[in-house]
Amino acid sequence: MNAEQRAAEVAKRLDELMPQTIQFLEQRVPFRFLVSVILSAQTTDRIVNVVVKELFKAYPDAASLAQANEEDVQEIIYATGYYRNKAKNIIACAQQLVDREVPDSMEELVKLPGVGRKTASCVLGDIYGKPAIIVDTHFSRVVNRLGLVKTKDPAKVEKAIASLLDASEHYRFSMTANLFGRSVCHAKKPECEACPFSDLCPSRDAFLKRRAKA
Ligand code: SF4
Repeated sequence: MNAEQRAAEVAKRLDELMPQTIQFLEQRVPFRFLVSVILSAQTTDRIVNVVVKELFKAYPDAASLAQANEEDVQEIIYATGYYRNKAKNIIACAQQLVDREVPDSMEELVKLPGVGRKTASCVLGDIYGKPAIIVDTHFSRVVNRLGLVKTKDPAKVEKAIASLLDASEHYRFSMTANLFGRSVCHAKKPECEACPFSDLCPSRDAFLKRRAKA
């Protein structure tokens, strides 16, 4: 099986295994979704989903958040961590989006404060339905363990996966692999015994051996 065939097989199995709709962040309005993604850095989606309810009650749109006092915003988003930087970024982002829609291109999205490729990819895939590979810690772990890539560098992971799968599969694969990482292929104790990739995964034997010794 060559690399493309392996990637296609992994994507197919994950597509069948995972729910049809996968949404980690609840907000669906583009501006609110973008803010949620910025806040999700280094924290859990569960915390973000709670925090943004209060944030958007106080500042429902870009126009109101653009005028917000930074310290008031810091207080609301405190639980997401890195709250000083995040408050600065979401207010600056709001100021740039008062009179325009959230952009639907990578080029324009990454010009916004606090928006890197990962955040932009989330918006492109989740909100605009465009091809996007979202490389976070779960995705990177899964594709490395399954032998689809051999690098932790997010830009290289993105490029390598993009070359292995058709663009139409990029976003769906991002979400299914991510959910698989969260639910089965955990960082510390992957559930290799019952894994549907037991015949394909080059990392499985090492994990099982390590566990047998423990
Ligand atoms: S066999 Fe283990 S390491 Fe490999 S994908 Fe499955 S859970 Fe992850």
